[in-house]
Amino acid sequence: APHTPTDINNLVEEYLRLAYQGLRAKHPAFHVARVKHLDASLCLVPAVAADLGRVLLNLFTNAFYAVQQRQKFDEASYVAQVSVTTQQLPSGHIEIRVQDNGTGIPAHIVDKIFQPFFTTKPTHEGTGLGLSLSYDIVTQGHGGTLYVESQEGQGTTFRVCLPLKVPA
Ligand code: ADP
Ligand code: MG
Repeated sequence: APHTPTDINNLVEEYLRLAYQGLRAKHPAFHVARVKHLDASLCLVPAVAADLGRVLLNLFTNAFYAVQQRQKFDEASYVAQVSVTTQQLPSGHIEIRVQDNGTGIPAHIVDKIFQPFFTTKPTHEGTGLGLSLSYDIVTQGHGGTLYVESQEGQGTTFRVCLPLKVPA
């Protein structure tokens, strides 16, 4: 698929809105604070926008699911939050960081989450393909990297790093 110069902030806005709509369709009364720190001076990134959009949609959908799950079991004072940051790194890469204060990922499963079909969700909630597909899109499709950091009971951060050159 052809890589074209892509406005990452635009893509982030679009898919955050889409993912939140999906959550609200299922849980109309559930509110999530959405925090955006989007670097307005970002360079355009050579990307397959539809593919990168699927990555963002999956990361946001997972984040909203995680905060919704935590809210089900946590104290009344819990304020669900999903934040997204875009920035240009000193290395020249573009970084997209998606952070949630949801359930977090237990240490013993964090190494498995990028495997195809690995899921902790009931069948109708997930196929376990989102992150494995996302990993392939970011690494093979864009020459980038996808990292996760998580604390069980605290939350999770995914970082997508994209080079400013099309992969060979
Ligand atoms: P699915 O969402 O269909 O389960 P994914 O590949 O998107 O498949 O994610 C795999 C698993 O990784 C999830 O089932 C969940 O256990 C874990 N996971 C992914 N993102 C998060 C997150 N933001 N917070 C907590 N757990 C997560
Ligand atoms: Mg998913």
